[in-house]
Amino acid sequence: MRPLDIAISGCGPAGLAAALLLHRDGHRVRLCERFETPRPIGSGLLIQPTGLAVLERLGLDTALKAHASRVERLLGKAVRSGATVLDVRYSALGEPLTVGLGIHRAALFAILYEAVLAEGIPVRTSAEITGSELGANGQRALVMADGSREGPFHLIVDALGTRTPLAPPAGRELEYGALWASLDWPEGSELNPHALEQRYRAASIMAGVLPIGTAPHDAKAKAALFWSIKGAGVAAWREAGLEAWKGDVRAVWPDVEPLLAQITDPDQLVFARYAHRTLKKPGETGMIHIGDAWHSASPQLGQGANMALLDAYALALGLRGASDVPDAIARAIALRRFHVWLYQVLTAFFTPVYQSDSRVIPFLRDRLVGPVSKVWPAPLVQAALVSGLVGGPLGRLGLR
Ligand SMILES: Cc1cc2nc3c(=O)[nH]c(=O)nc-3n(C[C@H](O)[C@H](O)[C@H](O)COP(=O)(O)OP(=O)(O)OC[C@H]3O[C@@H](n4cnc5c(N)ncnc54)[C@H](O)[C@@H]3O)c2cc1C
Repeated sequence: MRPLDIAISGCGPAGLAAALLLHRDGHRVRLCERFETPRPIGSGLLIQPTGLAVLERLGLDTALKAHASRVERLLGKAVRSGATVLDVRYSALGEPLTVGLGIHRAALFAILYEAVLAEGIPVRTSAEITGSELGANGQRALVMADGSREGPFHLIVDALGTRTPLAPPAGRELEYGALWASLDWPEGSELNPHALEQRYRAASIMAGVLPIGTAPHDAKAKAALFWSIKGAGVAAWREAGLEAWKGDVRAVWPDVEPLLAQITDPDQLVFARYAHRTLKKPGETGMIHIGDAWHSASPQLGQGANMALLDAYALALGLRGASDVPDAIARAIALRRFHVWLYQVLTAFFTPVYQSDSRVIPFLRDRLVGPVSKVWPAPLVQAALVSGLVGGPLGRLGLR
């Protein structure tokens, strides 16, 4: 494909990865981001073998591994019975080197953003995008909050995340989200530095700890602590005060005490609201939606950032093989559509198992799913599911 003028909106994982890939393919790329200084929001996430495959192609896997914590296992226990109801080991895939990588969001962001800057890709910051405008020639311009226009471009890549103003409203906000905090890893504690651990009381109470490696310019290993809470309950949580909340967490999981001790201000906890939405049409004239702008879900299966990276890679492949922009958009979507559909369905299925007011679902989870999941081939299926590998997303993209 001849070099195109491409605007990439949003400096999240999808936008930054797409910018690097398309710039390296010879396109004239411009990034737009609303932050004055681009920065990540939130705590930590789990990079799966799928996302790592894209980062490998970008030559950023070594930098990522240097910051990340190796996560070998996902372990969930019911508080009341002490029974293990979730036990997923990456080793069940039969590949000893395959693990998840817990990473601080700031580290993932810095690795991608520094590569963007090092390659001289222009970034327009303090640019709040409110929409786009289609010209008579099929090219599109970005419309900014101050009324200015950026462009026109042959292609706009919408990587603005789940609340993108470039796509029509879709899906729904979930009742449950979670409070997240990034804290120092408590050395010598009972917590497993190579596992994502969770504790559940029914499905309405969940506490979790994810090792997330080191943040940029800080050698101390970190942990992400999360606590399930309804969006409607956040104000009451604040009002009740930190000590009341710490009491609730301790009652569920006394081992997290060294993490709780580091929390002295409610502002150390950020509430993340989750939404389930999938655009019916991720492509339109002169514009493609990728990452959370196309599909977002609760992080129960930990796939969002990984799927965003896969989308970016598919877009680069689509453009490489296409005759024109509409063809490129269609190819990119075709490469990803099945995997996106599959994981959106799976995540919607699993979310109430861990976050809901249901009594029946967690009852079945604790008594049925826990024991059955230990019987072959369940360990292999679960490991493939969590790794993001079900549906063969890598083969389609020529990734390993
Ligand atoms: C609490 C939590 C935990 C998660 N855990 C995991 C996990 O373990 N594994 C995993 O893979 N995924 C996880 N996810 C999901 C993951 O964070 C997202 O799927 C991923 O960040 C999506 O990347 P993106 O680039 O598409 O969008 P985003 O990361 O949302 O990036 C969008 C960018 O666009 C910018 N922007 C937005 N609107 C505008 C505007 N109007 N104008 C200009 N700029 C704008 C934003 O500032 C941001 O920089 C988690 C999500 C949450 C909330």
